Amino acid sequence: MPQWVETTAYVLYARPLGERDKLCSFFTQRTGKVRGVAKGARRLHSRFGASLEPLSEVRLWYGEREGQELVTIGQCELIESVFDIGSTPEGEQLIHHLVELVDEFCPPHQPNDRIYRLLRAILSSLRVVEGDRARLLKLYFDVWMLRLSGFFPSLDRCAECEALVPRNEAIFLTIEGRPECVACQSAVRGIILSPLMRRDLRALLTEPPDRWIARAGMEAWSDQFVEFLRQFLSHVLEKELKTERLQEL
Ligand SMILES: [Zn+2]
Repeated sequence: MPQWVETTAYVLYARPLGERDKLCSFFTQRTGKVRGVAKGARRLHSRFGASLEPLSEVRLWYGEREGQELVTIGQCELIESVFDIGSTPEGEQLIHHLVELVDEFCPPHQPNDRIYRLLRAILSSLRVVEGDRARLLKLYFDVWMLRLSGFFPSLDRCAECEALVPRNEAIFLTIEGRPECVACQSAVRGIILSPLMRRDLRALLTEPPDRWIARAGMEAWSDQFVEFLRQFLSHVLEKELKTERLQEL
């Protein structure tokens, strides 16, 4: 007999499997990332309806058997879709990016409530996509994902000499995520964080996304930082992100 689990979850992807079914991946609140088969989901009038779109939040019932990696999807009810967000090119690209990072950073069967809540906060902020918001929200999400996964350091202290770097001075952040004061700086690849950037990044780690992206003046540095994050993430994950490769085409 399978063991049944009920949980809220975000759909990561649903890919065709044979003629009738879909292979799905979910980031669940209770049990972390799980993969399973949604039987009959490719049929026209499937009971899964539109609930299997990327980053839809759903109430999920699944059954698992010991020793089997794939679970059986019993029921999947839509709580909230991101259909409206995904209808613009920027929105769609961002959804793919969020899915890719959650998929890369979250190992199977390890719940992470902070990442789950981060995703929820980002998606609710995304309800209004205009101007720079999508790009700043991506920046916000990337820094937090790196932080919650243990890769984004405190920007107050030099990792080499361990001295506190005063807030009115710049600090160098290497592509490996190592902060170095100006005197110690030895790496070539990285980014100089001005006092202003350090201030805004400190705020990022204490403020909810809506409040943070309302700050003024970030357009002066965010482009450069987004490019740095792309390199930082591919260093951490040891590969180029798919969503970034698509953008270059
Ligand atoms: Zn130093």
